[in-house]
Amino acid sequence: MSNDIYDKYEIVIGLEIHIQLNTKTKAYCADVNEFGSAPNTNVSMISLGHPGTLPKVNKEVINSAIKLGLACGCNITEHMHYDRKNYFYADLPKGYQITQDKTPICTGGEIPIKTSNGDKVINITRIHMEEDAGKSMHDQDPFDTLVDLNRAGVALLEIVSEPEMRSSEEAYQYLAYVRKLVRYLDICDGNMEEGSMRCDANVSVRLKGQQEFGTRAEVKNMNSLRNVQRAIDFEAKRQIDLIELGNEIIQETRSFDATNGTTFSLRGKANAHDYRYFPEPDLGALHVTQKHIEEVRATLPPLPNELFKRYTTELGLSEYDAGVITETKEIAMYYEDIIKHTNNYKAAANWVMVDIKSYLNQNAIDINSFLVKPETIAQLITLIDSGKISSSAASQKLFPLIIGSTKTPEELAVENNLIQDSSDDEIIKIAEQVINERPEKVAEYKNGNKGLLGLFMGDFMKASKGKADPKKANQIIRQILDK
Ligand code: ADP
Ligand code: MG
Repeated sequence: MSNDIYDKYEIVIGLEIHIQLNTKTKAYCADVNEFGSAPNTNVSMISLGHPGTLPKVNKEVINSAIKLGLACGCNITEHMHYDRKNYFYADLPKGYQITQDKTPICTGGEIPIKTSNGDKVINITRIHMEEDAGKSMHDQDPFDTLVDLNRAGVALLEIVSEPEMRSSEEAYQYLAYVRKLVRYLDICDGNMEEGSMRCDANVSVRLKGQQEFGTRAEVKNMNSLRNVQRAIDFEAKRQIDLIELGNEIIQETRSFDATNGTTFSLRGKANAHDYRYFPEPDLGALHVTQKHIEEVRATLPPLPNELFKRYTTELGLSEYDAGVITETKEIAMYYEDIIKHTNNYKAAANWVMVDIKSYLNQNAIDINSFLVKPETIAQLITLIDSGKISSSAASQKLFPLIIGSTKTPEELAVENNLIQDSSDDEIIKIAEQVINERPEKVAEYKNGNKGLLGLFMGDFMKASKGKADPKKANQIIRQILDK
């Protein structure tokens, strides 16, 4: 179908995200919560669903939910209870899941996103606490499905958005922000490949200008941000094609096939479960006091969007730079520590984004294993700003020496003869000398071959052993040649 047809439609997306909490133990019992343990070793009578066992609330789960809620500007519910969601599945030995139906711990709130059309806010409907099921593995045995119950009872938070996203790009940005946030808050590792963050995408289409929503399909089983985007694009196109051929969309649950980028039907709404929710009789009602909420608020780290805003306004960084620096909390905190010791915010950003990042990449380590103190980077910046060392010598020669050294950048610069002779006289002397050595090239330059400036610069850097400020040298060489 031609693009004009697709342009008539608007895509509507609402996301349900499950994040698996990194609490030490499971949501309602003391079994260890650990990814990658031998199958069925982190289980007890409670996660096996033996009759007569009783669940117990894990306070860490409540605190994680409050943290996420506060970070998203949600209302925290003060009086709530747990609900039972009943269904049968092989990896759900209890026959029900403990969740929250009527009284989610958080309501309202929002996620800020940046898209190619500018900034936008996506409203959150609710965040509630629940527990994971076990894992059925269909590819481990040629004949049977195997069940691992290590995951049964692990704590989850489900974040449900309003149907306010209008493109797969917006959905991608929403997910990327949620992932960044849970990592900043240190409540989940945000790893979609390992399934500790999972996303169901509700997708519908409608004619532009139309008020009512179209019928939605819910797509599951995408294991990366990119695949969520691919699944939405495929799904929207599939629905438009069907409508254009005069068919109706049926409400159903579909699965994404990453190999060929398509979705296929898992079950229709006609077979939808009736979960028979009712208040969980084995757990009491929960009262979260205002005092407790304030105690949790005091533990919140700086949030990525707050840092981004401060960097682009108060510190004058570009949006690009602020985005790179706030990508992870560890990098942002390292940057914060540098700028406690220098006001040259842009230079500090460059050191983090260029020299430090490439060092980390080359050595396959993260910033927590980087041996140079942020204060030392600030000293390096001061050394450059005072004109004692050129920025190229600082980055190419001094930086590698600093790593693993206990000496200050200045001591190392002196020891290694890197302190630059910044007097113009010295630069003029060397510049004249290298220019006089190549009379033919000078004539060529004067005839219009301005590219030869690079040759003279090269000669100059060799003769000055890299100690002079290249920017100044460049200026002076040009002045002499253009005379
Ligand atoms: P369910 O539990 O049956 O999936 P919910 O009411 O919890 O139903 O909605 C799930 C998600 O579907 C929410 O994120 C919501 O924003 C989204 N949603 C609802 N209606 C539509 C629609 N017509 N198109 C796209 N998304 C929708
Ligand atoms: Mg749903």
